[in-house]
Amino acid sequence: MFEVLPQLAPDPILGLSAAFKQDTNPNKIDLGVGVYKDEQGNTPILSAVAKAQTILLEREKSKTYITPQGVQGFIDGMLGLILGEKSPVLMADRVAAVQAPGGCGSLRILAELLTRVNKDTKVWISDPTWANHIPLMGNAGLSLETYPYFDKATASIRFDAMMDTLRKVEKGDVVLLHGCCHNPTGADLTKEQWQQVVEVAKEREFLPFVDLAYQGFGDGLEEDAYGVRLLCENLPEVIIAASCSKNFGLYRERVGLAAIVTADSATKKIAQAQIQSVARGMYSMPPSYGGALVDIILSDVALKQEWETEVNEMRNRMSTLRSLLVEKLTANGAQKDFSFVNNQKGMFSFLCITPEQVQKMRNEHSVYFVDSSRVNVAGISQANIDDLAKAMVAVIN
Ligand code: PMP
Repeated sequence: MFEVLPQLAPDPILGLSAAFKQDTNPNKIDLGVGVYKDEQGNTPILSAVAKAQTILLEREKSKTYITPQGVQGFIDGMLGLILGEKSPVLMADRVAAVQAPGGCGSLRILAELLTRVNKDTKVWISDPTWANHIPLMGNAGLSLETYPYFDKATASIRFDAMMDTLRKVEKGDVVLLHGCCHNPTGADLTKEQWQQVVEVAKEREFLPFVDLAYQGFGDGLEEDAYGVRLLCENLPEVIIAASCSKNFGLYRERVGLAAIVTADSATKKIAQAQIQSVARGMYSMPPSYGGALVDIILSDVALKQEWETEVNEMRNRMSTLRSLLVEKLTANGAQKDFSFVNNQKGMFSFLCITPEQVQKMRNEHSVYFVDSSRVNVAGISQANIDDLAKAMVAVIN
């Protein structure tokens, strides 16, 4: 049967990893896949996670099914982290939520829920956005439109153009926003800009859908929740897909949270049953393990503190590398002003160079990143930053 299906082209990012592996240059640099790496290029298990694993091994006495919504302690801990412990929507019992397999699983079940509300729902995504948003939303049957977001020529957010488009969005449409650390550009809205998004959402009555995959990697755990909290405190309905892949380093355990802020607590009950029924029809219930680890960390004062310190270390390392790269580029005589890299947040930076220049970086200097010019800042280290800056200057000047 399956021969009727077309052979798909390899995923560009996986193709890039394969090419990197094959490159024999001992000084090759991998800035491709979006995974945090330390100075040595490793993605270690966070120490708070390792301790939680030991506790869980001791504590878990059965592998019977967990409840359909997932680990309740995980859900409560994550809602506190995202919305704030004293969040008015939590106090008002207006939040339905389930644990889901990663940020992707959360995005997918929320997309499916939207089709239950209206199969013709239109979702507005940023131009550019994380490539997987397209199949995650599109495969659920939602139709996609884009709003302008980033201008490569000026390396800045096209906020006026974004707002012009949002002013035309219709009631019942959905607008997908990156809560922080926009992937791929690293360019985030300011507090004032978030406020304007709230105003336009009120006016047009669209539903904000927040993808929060990097909380803690931008300005801090609390700071990075600014936008999502502002939306939740000022609008009747918001939906949120959060991921624990990056900030807990739990990539392969597939841990995420899908949350639905509803207009009142009666509707919350409807949303809770519906999102569980969506998940039931797709994978029944989420895997317990990663959620159980996050629950242990967030409910233990000392472990939570240890985890926060580790998140801060990851963030500070990336932000130090950003400024160091800008410094080294200037010191090596770069003609282009790269100071915008310092203003970008999180794990990614858009270098705003052409695809031809990106290919030259790869072919002539063994520096690997995607054609859009998105680099994984965590792939930079004290050991490779000089080579990287020199290669960039050679290609760009
Ligand atoms: N949203 C964005 C913007 C992402 O970059 C990612 C991870 N690359 C995710 C969601 C989901 O990640 P995961 O499914 O691994 O938790």
